[in-house]
Amino acid sequence: MKYVDEFRNPGLAKGLVKKVAELPRRNVRVMMGGGMIAHAAAEAGLEDMLHKEVTLILGPGCPRCVTPASAIDNAIAISEFPKTIVTIHGGMTMIPGSSKSLEAKKAEGGDIRAVYSCTEALNIAIKNPEKNVIFVAVGYETTSPTVASTIIEAQRKGVENFYITRGHIIFTSIFRALLEGGEARFNGLLMPGPVSTIIGSKAYDFIPEKYKLPCVITGLETCDILQSIYMLLKQMEEDKPRVEIQYSRCVNEEGNLAAKKILNEVFEVCDSPLRGFGVVPKSGLKLRKKYEQFDAEKVYNVQLEETKESKGCICGEVIRGVMTSSDCPFFGKACTPRRPIGPCMVDPHGACSLNYRSSSVRGLLRRFT
Ligand code: SF4
Repeated sequence: MKYVDEFRNPGLAKGLVKKVAELPRRNVRVMMGGGMIAHAAAEAGLEDMLHKEVTLILGPGCPRCVTPASAIDNAIAISEFPKTIVTIHGGMTMIPGSSKSLEAKKAEGGDIRAVYSCTEALNIAIKNPEKNVIFVAVGYETTSPTVASTIIEAQRKGVENFYITRGHIIFTSIFRALLEGGEARFNGLLMPGPVSTIIGSKAYDFIPEKYKLPCVITGLETCDILQSIYMLLKQMEEDKPRVEIQYSRCVNEEGNLAAKKILNEVFEVCDSPLRGFGVVPKSGLKLRKKYEQFDAEKVYNVQLEETKESKGCICGEVIRGVMTSSDCPFFGKACTPRRPIGPCMVDPHGACSLNYRSSSVRGLLRRFT
């Protein structure tokens, strides 16, 4: 297949659903290791298409959801320093900290600006030499290499008023923590193609080797996901767990070597807090000594009071796959995408937001059909 329409072909999708249904039926729980997979699956209505003995559950793959409240608290505290501009990806501004979001802080007068990229933040720094510009760095290896290249660029240009926070997360570290915790019940993992393009399929070898679970790296179109589910079930049937690449048009074993090289040049691995998991060893990235002049922590000595998650919100449990949004008393009542309480309702790829939107669509269908 070559063109995107082919990956959404209804006839092909039906054929794949049939193939899945023909495999031996058992109560199978498939974890989608990323909000992007869940978003694509929800948009295509895959849950309703699949046999009910195949349950899709959402794992901790959304970077904004696993970013802890302390990262937001830290950015808010930095914004209170004089002559300081805080920049952050637009999708992060509504993520709640202990007492408020960056959007609320902006409404109070903080100089907080939504940007599309770290490069845009660097340009703001270049245009405002009398101010310090901070980029709140969050996300996985899909974004961290571009931040690394921006840091190299800032050094090359001799920019002295530009800094980043320590918020990057190593994608596989969350799944190591999840599997080590042993709480979530699932029989196989679908991993997202985009981040796997950078890190390569070998990064997941620990999943079948240590935890004996099948793992398939999937693309994000309807037929990609259906084919990946078929590949997972086939592995289960054969009882030979391994890492397979369905998204072979972009992913290989080693990943993007140029991106990995630049990441390694600029960053080193550190322990980092993750929402729902606490401090996870070797899960984050911090600037190497050669680039530490850009480390916001070296310039802003922020002493945070104890971080508090929104009272009653069970995002941590939802992220770990041990509870679902419908177990939360706030779901669809006090907490909606318009008035979110926790990060999983803010991000369109978050579990609560996805569940809210698909339950609204189902409700409408029930009303009008
Ligand atoms: Fe948190 Fe809202 Fe989800 Fe409940 S429904 S877990 S309050 S984001």
